[in-house]
Amino acid sequence: MDIRSMYMDELASVIAGMGEKPFRAKQLFSWLHEKQAASYDEMTNLPAGLRNRLAEEYPLITLKEAAHLVSKKDGTEKFLFELEDHNVIESVLMKYHHGNSVCISSQVGCAMGCLFCASTKNGLVRSLTASEMLEQVYRIQAASGERVANVVVMGMGEPLQNYDGLLRFIKLISDEHGINISQRNITVSTCGLVPQIKKLAEEKLAITLALSLHASTDEERERLMPVAKKYKLAELIPAMKDYFETTGRRVTFEYALVSGQNDSEEDAKRLSALLKGFPCHVNLIPVNDVTESGLKKPDRKGIDVFHKKLEKYGINVTIRREMGADINGACGQLRNSFIERLE
Ligand code: SAH
Repeated sequence: MDIRSMYMDELASVIAGMGEKPFRAKQLFSWLHEKQAASYDEMTNLPAGLRNRLAEEYPLITLKEAAHLVSKKDGTEKFLFELEDHNVIESVLMKYHHGNSVCISSQVGCAMGCLFCASTKNGLVRSLTASEMLEQVYRIQAASGERVANVVVMGMGEPLQNYDGLLRFIKLISDEHGINISQRNITVSTCGLVPQIKKLAEEKLAITLALSLHASTDEERERLMPVAKKYKLAELIPAMKDYFETTGRRVTFEYALVSGQNDSEEDAKRLSALLKGFPCHVNLIPVNDVTESGLKKPDRKGIDVFHKKLEKYGINVTIRREMGADINGACGQLRNSFIERLE
């Protein structure tokens, strides 16, 4: 296993196995996660012999910046990182007055096949390791020179299909001896893998779980998201309720508005009925046409009408601001244009 993916007790056995004193493991953990070292050379309070041995047996993997774009419109920054195996992934830095937020990828590509999503166009290549997820946050914090306050796992990939990597990532990024980002400031978005949602509830984490709902009936949802054929609303919504009851954490529903597909008054009414009495938050996302699928967002007025309707039915709802539109802000877009250039 990659050394930056290891928990403290795992590092302790590596260090013990090398015949070193236990406090070296704590120093190593601090270099890896608190100071976010990019190489063993930086770990100046470790003996050179130990550093050399670690470098040989546990090569330290650091993401390389392949591209870095800054939006002239809103300051959003997009990073394209190259992995050891030369695959590329995207991450986004968004600056808000309540702090910097980083959107990370959980997989190279995606297997889920959602009609509107650019990340899934070429299918799934592989899941990321915990270390590759952590590194996206660490490199962005280092590049910006400013503290990362929030992390959203909403970039490329389906995080719950990378369950073990995700769990390790969450535990390491919220470790008080590491970068120490509170679990309350972490959001994980899923297309709705019911067994994994149930499993995640049992971990009793303090993160926010967001479900990509995007429709108020199974038929409509199936048209946009192939995964809806497998998991119906009748088990998905109760799984989210169960998540809230088990963890005490309010959940979010994401709803990408697509003109003529899921934006009618009937949709607003059905959606409200589906979520009635459930303490949750709905985030409306005007769909970004990135897949040549011909899907269009409703016009400004259509979006406002849908928003108002939900409010009228007592739903706690916001519209997501579109950020970084001039730098291929939507997930998967930048990577696709990069891959096309290479081809
Ligand atoms: N696989 C996870 C997380 C990645 S996608 C999931 O499905 O939730 C993050 C969010 O962006 C999801 O809600 C997804 O449906 C949405 N999304 C993807 N492509 C989009 C697009 N072109 N326009 C608007 N939202 C999009």
